[in-house]
Amino acid sequence: MFQNPLEKDRAMRKKLLIANWKMCGTSITLAALFKGLRLDLRLFSALDLVLCPPAVFLALAKEDCAALGIGLGIQNVSEHSEGAFTGEISGTMAAELGCHYALIGHSERRSLYGETDQIVAQKWARAQEAGLKPVLCVGETEQDYRQGLTLDVIHRQLQAVLSQVSAAEFAESILAYEPVWAIGTGLTPSSDEIEKTLAYLRQILFSYDRMLGENLRILYGGSIKPQNAAELLNLPNVDGGLVGGASLSYDTFAAIYRSLNLEG
Ligand code: PEP
Repeated sequence: MFQNPLEKDRAMRKKLLIANWKMCGTSITLAALFKGLRLDLRLFSALDLVLCPPAVFLALAKEDCAALGIGLGIQNVSEHSEGAFTGEISGTMAAELGCHYALIGHSERRSLYGETDQIVAQKWARAQEAGLKPVLCVGETEQDYRQGLTLDVIHRQLQAVLSQVSAAEFAESILAYEPVWAIGTGLTPSSDEIEKTLAYLRQILFSYDRMLGENLRILYGGSIKPQNAAELLNLPNVDGGLVGGASLSYDTFAAIYRSLNLEG
């Protein structure tokens, strides 16, 4: 029996793990991951998994993902619908390739490729229009963290998208809190900090729309490893994780999803 409504709502949010391969891996790495994942098929009814390989491997990954019930995601989409934008991929093209998800506003895109809040909001809209589930990434830099600006920064980043869309549109997306200083560094916030930050994000969603506050999944990302996954991913406010480096090998990725407390 559920003790209070919030606990019930939490139980309805199925755990989600997203593998972000960034610009790493080969077709051999991909085949090795699928070989391993096939052993764990029975787990995938209690857990949602999404794989975001480099875009050139999406077509290669599509069939195995479908057979395993794993979602396929692209790491970035253009802020434009189509046109003379050499090297870019549109949300519609990603959907045609078989993608269901798109990472939007990853900190590497924001810091290395100059994606402003405004561009991130445009990318979010292009992904959503194409029928993809946008995974909006927010997070503060180390300097912001040191200055105590974490909540201000993530509020601004979330608001940049939320203010442009309806609650019904945003309901189809996912939010990922990824402190920039924790990505690929081996550093993580304390469990207490993660709990407070995710509770803050949920509060913003609640104040925008009650159903959004209850149902939207909020992930943590940044240096999730087999050693810290049980502690970080089973926190009450954490609905899953965005995993970079540790998602490239079946052994480390499987150790992470096996440490989740899954319902049913
Ligand atoms: C990421 O790329 O979003 C990420 C969290 O990377 P890592 O797990 O390697 O820190």
